[in-house]
Amino acid sequence: MVLRKFLGVALILLFALVIILPSLIIQGLGRLRSPVEVETQERVVRLLDHTRGEVIALPLETYVAGVVAGEMPAEFEMEALKAQAVAARTYTLKKIEEARAKPDPKHPQADLCTDPTHCQAWVPQGALRQRYGFWQGLRYERKILQAVDATQGLVLTYQGELIIPVYHSNSGGRTESAEAVWGYDIPYLRSVLSPWDRESPRFRNTVTFTLAELDQKLGVNLSAVPAAALTPPRGQAIKVEEYTPTGRVKTIRIGDKTFKGTELRQLLGLSSTDFTWQVEGDRITFISVGNGHGVGLSQYGANGMAKEGKNFLDILYHYYRGVKVEKR
Ligand SMILES: [Zn+2]
Repeated sequence: MVLRKFLGVALILLFALVIILPSLIIQGLGRLRSPVEVETQERVVRLLDHTRGEVIALPLETYVAGVVAGEMPAEFEMEALKAQAVAARTYTLKKIEEARAKPDPKHPQADLCTDPTHCQAWVPQGALRQRYGFWQGLRYERKILQAVDATQGLVLTYQGELIIPVYHSNSGGRTESAEAVWGYDIPYLRSVLSPWDRESPRFRNTVTFTLAELDQKLGVNLSAVPAAALTPPRGQAIKVEEYTPTGRVKTIRIGDKTFKGTELRQLLGLSSTDFTWQVEGDRITFISVGNGHGVGLSQYGANGMAKEGKNFLDILYHYYRGVKVEKR
């Protein structure tokens, strides 16, 4: 009797293991692969996979999920992921509009590419399972799909036009205006406070070079200069000539050359243009605050706002001034 009961229970467990569990997993995976909505023709993104040189066609919402997975850490709060999804969708539709009016010379057959330095980062289905392991990756994929689903079709507009929804990792405490970085005013990309960024692990970043390395990278001759001349306030060999209104380096004189802050950031791989430096012996260390150009939405700021209970609309309206969120 006991044995039969045991066998009965064992059979039910076996059934659950063999039939129900795999079907649940497959259902989950199928859900991940299927288009989030019934897509119409113009809602298909032609995407150049820049690593393979192939153009693939993807439903808009599926593409947006791949961008959120590529651009924002999946462990971030749901409302931050939703804000990122709206920004990514806006950028995508803007690029499609532009590409169909005038094809992009870098990829005339595609609306966008997967190169984050040109368009926006995108990772294919399954990338998160590779990065985080199967179960955690699956959980994160579902979380991102949920963020994309919940904001389906929502975009950011200013005076009826899709905005340029730029974003960065961490502003260091105050975002930068478009004017200070790119030289022209964009009314919704003005400097705003972002105190949440200070809590983030990527708030301060340092990078060290020998003076000889710096000379080589910049084409200057600091190795010949006495160390005292390299450190402010008395040293004049490295000197900030102009700061932006938020205190980032706009132009800096190094040896006999003048660099834009943005240019130096690129040449030396600094995490932002909000930096100072220290010289010790023949080594120079740059200490940067924040991560990225600082314009538009701060991803760590968005995560901090979400932790305080703010929703994705609060986040978007904070970082993009005077915009509307509407369905397209
Ligand atoms: Zn591109």
